[in-house]
Amino acid sequence: MAILKVAQMGHPVLRQVAEEIPAKALKSSDIKALVDDLVETMSEYAGIGLAAPQVHFGVRLFIIQPDPGDESTLRVAVNPVLTPLSEEMEESWEGCLSLPDIHGMVPRYMRIRLDAWDASGEKYSVEFENFAARVAQHEADHLDGVLFIDRMTNLSTLAYGDEWRRYHAPRPEPKEGGEDEEEEEIEEGGKSC
Ligand SMILES: [Zn+2]
Repeated sequence: MAILKVAQMGHPVLRQVAEEIPAKALKSSDIKALVDDLVETMSEYAGIGLAAPQVHFGVRLFIIQPDPGDESTLRVAVNPVLTPLSEEMEESWEGCLSLPDIHGMVPRYMRIRLDAWDASGEKYSVEFENFAARVAQHEADHLDGVLFIDRMTNLSTLAYGDEWRRYHAPRPEPKEGGEDEEEEEIEEGGKSC
């Protein structure tokens, strides 16, 4: 396993449409190895999702773990297809490991179905709502060369990390003299993927 370098905005790989993984490769050790590296890299950067193009592999594969404290929320999606289950959308905060320390409000579908293959090459279908649905849509966009800023309808919400935590983070005001450790208390919108 290895911690991979995360591509930053401006790298062409983040703007390319990633390639389908061929059926005969779905059960290959190459895919399992890439998944292991994605998991390790996501964990290293305290992310809640990571797509293969973000680590310079232009293939249609992402992982999400909407609750970083709960490994059972880890999901591997190979050749994923996302289908909105209602028209309803919601705006909320997102961050991206490829746009470090920047947050913005992004509208996303609130309920989706994800059809994909897992790390063992088995097909599955699962429904997500709210934050998990948001993270899956963010990652699926990475496979099409789309970044969260492209989805924003109001660029005035863009904020750097310090300012975001000070003025916008959805949590109680920091205690006086609070240290950075309090970042742990920041809710879902403070995590990047
Ligand atoms: Zn991202």
